[in-house]
Amino acid sequence: MHKHILVTGAAGFIGSNLTDRLLEKNERVIAIDDFNDFYDPKIKEENLKQAAVSPNFKLYRGDIRDKALIGKIFKENSIDVVCHIAARAGVRPSLQDPVLYEDVNCLGTLNLLEAAKQHPVRNFVFASSSSVYGINSKAPFSEDDPISQPISPYAATKRASELMAFAYSHLYEIPITALRFFTVYGERGRPDMAVAKFTRLIYEGNEIVVNGDGTAKRDFTYISDILQGILASIYKPFPYEIINLGESRVVDVNYLISLIEKILGKKAKIKYLPPAPGDVSVTYADISKAKRLLGYEPKVQIEEGIERYVKLFLKREGVRV
Ligand code: NAD
Repeated sequence: MHKHILVTGAAGFIGSNLTDRLLEKNERVIAIDDFNDFYDPKIKEENLKQAAVSPNFKLYRGDIRDKALIGKIFKENSIDVVCHIAARAGVRPSLQDPVLYEDVNCLGTLNLLEAAKQHPVRNFVFASSSSVYGINSKAPFSEDDPISQPISPYAATKRASELMAFAYSHLYEIPITALRFFTVYGERGRPDMAVAKFTRLIYEGNEIVVNGDGTAKRDFTYISDILQGILASIYKPFPYEIINLGESRVVDVNYLISLIEKILGKKAKIKYLPPAPGDVSVTYADISKAKRLLGYEPKVQIEEGIERYVKLFLKREGVRV
């Protein structure tokens, strides 16, 4: 029997890749997305083109802050699993509009938890973020690290949502897993994120801006590896768990740029500016828990992932690769 899976944020980068993968597995996907203009909504429409023709796909265009709509979705569909991916993403823009981030990420999550309380589900998987580790001095970051120092509104909303989710799992026995994603990149990658932004700008011969001296380190995670972890989590409910999903390999921003330059065959024009407030200097996932609980085994190293991404980008631009 196929499962009925509610995917929030289904038109976005991770949500649309997840939706396609679930449909391939013959699951039924009930999707919600508000197609907001954080980046061009046409990209989001395009992301769902393949899904839209599937008989197993149903889309609600709307806002997760709309409690009545969320209630209606749960009434009209017998949801087995909630995969809550929708959010206002990104550290830096959260400093510009913290109220919006709080509203969507916290109230939106609460609406879904409330619905899951009223309409019991077999599993509730939630997209959290490595940013919750904040100014954690210990690396790699482990789920047991005592973290209470997020340094951006975005990070604080993700940590607050994890805590609210714990309360609901405890009070109403909703099985919940919060997955902490570490800098995800790959096909359909968000245009505001480094990999997509740098690739386009370097290709077009435009200047790229690097905040800091380029030695900030990130654990870049390829989309297919993140999907592997999300899928494993969907099919394996826990009373409440927090699980890191990263590659557990750290490279700096300058190295990332050199990889993009190599595949594009173009040199980047780089402008270095002071570090951006809210940015952390390193993210590095300890993934032993994901391996143990989910059988998670990330496969795509940054060199291969960037090659795949940039070649796909060039193909879309009509360049023969
Ligand atoms: P994305 O912006 O591409 O996708 C988010 C989707 O949610 C978008 O399609 C957007 O329209 C939708 N959405 C936003 N607000 C909504 C609302 N109020 N109602 C309905 N839909 C709404 O971002 P992404 O990179 O795919 O991120 C997906 C999730 O993973 C987010 O929760 C993000 O915080 C988290 N995350 C992402 C990364 C990453 O590196 N991409 C890292 C850590 C965590």
